Amino acid sequence: MITIQGIHKQFHGLEVLKGIDLTVEKGTTAVIIGPSGSGKTTLLRCLNLLELPEQGKITLDKQAIEFSKTAKLKHTTITSFRQQTGMVFQGYNLFPHLTALENVMEGQVIVLRRSKEEARQKALTLLDKVGLKDRANMYPHQLSGGQQQRVGIARAMAMDPKILLFDEPTSALDPELVGEVLRVMKDLAMDGMTMVVVTHEMGFAREVADQIIFMDQGMIIEQGTPEEFFTNTTNTRTLQFLNKVN
Ligand code: ATP
Repeated sequence: MITIQGIHKQFHGLEVLKGIDLTVEKGTTAVIIGPSGSGKTTLLRCLNLLELPEQGKITLDKQAIEFSKTAKLKHTTITSFRQQTGMVFQGYNLFPHLTALENVMEGQVIVLRRSKEEARQKALTLLDKVGLKDRANMYPHQLSGGQQQRVGIARAMAMDPKILLFDEPTSALDPELVGEVLRVMKDLAMDGMTMVVVTHEMGFAREVADQIIFMDQGMIIEQGTPEEFFTNTTNTRTLQFLNKVN
């Protein structure tokens, strides 16, 4: 379970997150949606400390991190926290000079100090899970965007994170490749992975999310089940947003 309390983040004096409170229970999927610039990506990046909030607290299982403008976090705290919160990026971010298999092995060997054989076995199992065992020895440029993103998901899973964070994982893909990535994400959700997903894919949000978080202008405006959000909402800003995206 991850809990965030009172998270504030500024960029050059502009307050982008204005006090965010959120809990994602173990084994559930939270989908964050909202207009462009509302702070969705920044919130996600704060969840694995790629951005450091100026104020607030994040608790992952029993480990709590408190932020302040003055107290600097230890490097070891940041790296250990990051390992437990796997991130899947919009642009895949694979190493171009490594094969799919090596991409999924790399962090396991370098960061977790697993033996090469153990890392290879785990990588093959995960590549199989995302439907790419037969592409294990291909380089990223030999794979489609959808395949690269599935390698990205396998790579994040290889670190045994407590939670997986997805930052618009399908927005860089051609429309016909979106489905294969969403299917893998749905399978992970069904397997009980804890996930936070920033996406514009409303079908996925409706079908897979346990809770929808709607953000606007750095705040959570509404949160609830897909049914509460998509069908029963009376919130004006939510309705305006839904009118635009539907
Ligand atoms: P989108 O849907 O377009 O990706 P978003 O809801 O994810 O938008 P963010 O990317 O979190 O929004 O951005 C929120 C605000 O913070 C925007 O005004 C953006 O310009 C600003 N911002 C984000 N990152 C930085 C940064 N590193 N430096 C300065 N400003 C930033």
